[in-house]
Amino acid sequence: MRHKSKGEMRDIAKERIAILLDLAEQESKKPDMGRAKRYAELARKISMRYQAGMPLEYKRRICKKCGAFLVFGKNATVRTLDGAVSIKCGGCGNIVRLPFSRETKERRSASAASRICKKIILMKEKGASADEILKESVRLIRAATGRFNWTGIYLLKGDALELHNYIGRPTEHTTIKTGVGVCGTAVAQKRNINVPDVSKVQNYLACSVETKSEIVVLIKAPDGRILGQIDIDSDKRGAFLQRDERFLQKVADCIGALIT
Ligand SMILES: [Zn+2]
Repeated sequence: MRHKSKGEMRDIAKERIAILLDLAEQESKKPDMGRAKRYAELARKISMRYQAGMPLEYKRRICKKCGAFLVFGKNATVRTLDGAVSIKCGGCGNIVRLPFSRETKERRSASAASRICKKIILMKEKGASADEILKESVRLIRAATGRFNWTGIYLLKGDALELHNYIGRPTEHTTIKTGVGVCGTAVAQKRNINVPDVSKVQNYLACSVETKSEIVVLIKAPDGRILGQIDIDSDKRGAFLQRDERFLQKVADCIGALIT
């Protein structure tokens, strides 16, 4: 038998991790979460042994102190504390704060994201509603750079996206079915989509003839559920860079933690 390369081993490890976390997720629905914890522990061991990263959405789901598999609202709570989102394990009481600016290279866009996060967290602490937070988020995102033209947030209601609020030219697309257009496809495929040139996309749902590029970044709850998306159009081709996606993801994660 051929010896497996490090990369292949890591790929196998990643597959096993995904299966174990899936099992943990299923087990976590039962009253006794002991098995969920054991699956999560196994996943973490494999991840360390083969240096295979844990999927992003699960990084915050395992208590670093006691190893419990965290289900928000069941054995863990998400709350805002001193201007940051924190996750508390109900089992051991360990609190983890979500980092907003870790990368030094991307300090500027990262700090722009944390500024937005701090502002909306403060709103939440002062009792603002989800509607108010979503509106202010769109305003702050739009103001972050001149490259963002049409900027809006859609919320997922059943199998359709509903436009919550936006800044820019009026659009007819106030309801978009899952799987339709760039917005609906992002939800169906559970991923962010960056379209550098909309003229190359078949059946493109154009909001306006001026739109040349578009980016959609999913808003997820801390438990990974898709809540909606940030959608931005630009009048320039290839307007959205990788760091824009990371910037928007940080803001989206923050919104996701605040509106659940
Ligand atoms: Zn714990």
